[in-house]
Order: sequence, then C-alpha cells, then structure tokens
Amino acid sequence: MQTLAAVLHQPAGAFSLETIDIAEPQAGEIRVAVKAVGVCHTDLVIGSGALGNAFPTVLGHEGAGIVDAVGAGVTSVRPGDKVLLSFNSCGHCPRCDHDDPAYCHEFFPRNMLCTRPDGSSRLSRDGLAIADNCFGQSSFAALAIANERNVLKLPEDADLATLAPLGCGIQTGVGAVLRSLKAQAGETLLVIGGGAVGLSAVLGGVLAGCGTIVLVEPQASRRDMGQSVGATHVIDPSAAGDIVDAVRAIALTGVDMIVDTSGHMPTLARTPDMIAPMGRIGLVGVPGALDAVLPLPMIKWLTVGGTVRGIVEGDSDITGFLPELIAHHAAGRLPFDRFVTRYPFTRINEAIADTSNGTCIKPVLIFD
Ligand SMILES: [Zn+2]
Ligand SMILES: [Zn+2]
Repeated sequence: MQTLAAVLHQPAGAFSLETIDIAEPQAGEIRVAVKAVGVCHTDLVIGSGALGNAFPTVLGHEGAGIVDAVGAGVTSVRPGDKVLLSFNSCGHCPRCDHDDPAYCHEFFPRNMLCTRPDGSSRLSRDGLAIADNCFGQSSFAALAIANERNVLKLPEDADLATLAPLGCGIQTGVGAVLRSLKAQAGETLLVIGGGAVGLSAVLGGVLAGCGTIVLVEPQASRRDMGQSVGATHVIDPSAAGDIVDAVRAIALTGVDMIVDTSGHMPTLARTPDMIAPMGRIGLVGVPGALDAVLPLPMIKWLTVGGTVRGIVEGDSDITGFLPELIAHHAAGRLPFDRFVTRYPFTRINEAIADTSNGTCIKPVLIFD
C-alpha cells in the first residue's frame, strides 16, 4: 500500500511530504490509520541525527488512529478499533517482566534509534528503504506500523485528536511527578522549563495535591500558561537574579521535588542547593551535550538524603497509566489540551517552527 508521510532526508532538514510504500503488518504488528499525532521535542532531537539514527526516516511518536490491519498473532485489537500509540518495549527483558517498560533493556534501539532487532523497515520509496519504527510507530504518516506492546485500545467514543499527545509528552510530565518522584499531598514541587512536559509536570503536581508548585520558565506566555494550569508561583530566570535565592524566597527550607525538563546545565548545577531534606530531583530534559555532567556536593547530599533520578516516559506503563490519564482528562482534572495547538498534518514544518519561535507550546497534527 501507499501512504502520505513526512520524510526527513537529512539531519535537521525540513520534512518533505511524499507518497511512499508501506508494507503489510508482520507478526505482532498493527497497521494504524493515523488521525492525529503530537510533535514532541524528542522528534527534533532524533531528527538532528545526534543519536545516530539512519536517514531518510519517518519520525513521529504520539500517534492516535484507527486500526487498519493486524499481523499474525495480534489479539488485543482488530481493524476498526481506535488506538493510542506510545513508546515501544521488548516484552521479555527483566524490566519489561517487572512492568517497567520505560526502562526496557532495548528502549534506546526500539525507540530513539528507530530500529528493529532484525534491522528491517516497513517503509520504502522506489524500492529504497526508509528508516522507520521511531518509538515503534513512525506516525508522521497517514499509515503507521505499530506493535502490540505500544498500542492501547481506546473506547469507541474516544476523541483521537485530543488524546494523541498523551502517548509521550503528557504522560512523561505527569508521570515524573506522580510515579517517578511519588509526590505526596502537601509537598512542594519545582518544575524547570514550561514546555509541554514541564506544564504536564505542573498538572501532575496539582493532581497530587502539592501545596506549592513553582515553575521556572523564561518565556512570559509559558509562565502565564503555567499559572493558569496550577503553578502557585512562577520565576523568570532571566530576571530573578540568583536562582537559588529566588526559589528559597518561595520555599524557605527548599523544595521537596524538582522536575527538570530543560536540560539547562547552569540551572541544573544549582538544584542541589534548592532541595529540602530528603528532596528528590527528577531528570527529564535532555542536555545539549552528550557528555554533560551534573556535579553533586557530596557531604551536603548525603546529609540531606537527596535523590537524583533519571526519568523516562514518567515511569509509565501503557495499559496501566494511560487509562488513568484519560480518566483524569475526562473528569476535567488534566486540562493538557489548554496548551495544545492543532495544525493540518501538511503544515508540519510550520508547526515545528512555531514551537521554536514561542507561538505554540504543543503542536498536534491532524489528518483529514
Ligand atoms: Zn524490555
Ligand atoms: Zn516524546
């Protein structure tokens, strides 16, 4: 079959809308007619080539759509079902066995590196392979091949355009607070970076009943959005002077939790001075340099009982956490749609440009 896809021919290039060939789903695979797909910052990181993935490629990893065909052995969905796509995992490593698929031993190759264990691709043009399997889906296309491991069946009345970004960015921010750092009611939360993941962490803090939720974000429009979705305080780091003083002016004894979504090393380096005893720092944002190092003041750290945790996908497991988030949204407790802007799929390059120039926080591309 053929499908319209946004093909990236070279690192950091523009997406090219092309009609390409897509194979039949193989054993365990599910072909999905994509109706909506969020654009996540990780698409741009992979698209830069920094992670070593192959080109040309089709990216996209927050797809939602309708099952078009299923391969042999697929039992969880059938053609016509609405589905939400999320990250991929192997299903047979110790972490997968433990219901921790975000820490699957094969997470990197099956998601960020956009590869399959056998090196095959389901996409091609004029007989030449196009790299696919980005997060087990490559959903910047009208048709995408996913796997039973990364597909969640949705109710018949599900609104696919609304739910699409839950598959990565939203669950990452909310899960970082609720699942990774295990926020308790009344605790204080500091979120660094007010993009879609950071604002979702703010929403997670609201869900957990955090008393004080501080958002550090240089863009005024994002600080405003943070306050409108539940941040009790906002800090403009470019105007605040010393960032530790600014945080401690709000939380005198330090904060219980920090979620960093910025990867901004000068700010991260100050975080050990911002936490309260037994404080937890969650690292979500990817720093610009592969060899970035976070220095820890050892004596202070061991005397306050501090924790630093790396966080992938908010410790989500697809069939457990995503339905909870869908229920929270339906009940009005998770208004992530407030920071989503919809674009027609064909305007993908404009949507991405708008995230860098500050006019859009979270783009979701819609297929006709
Ligand atoms: Zn695994
Ligand atoms: Zn993502």
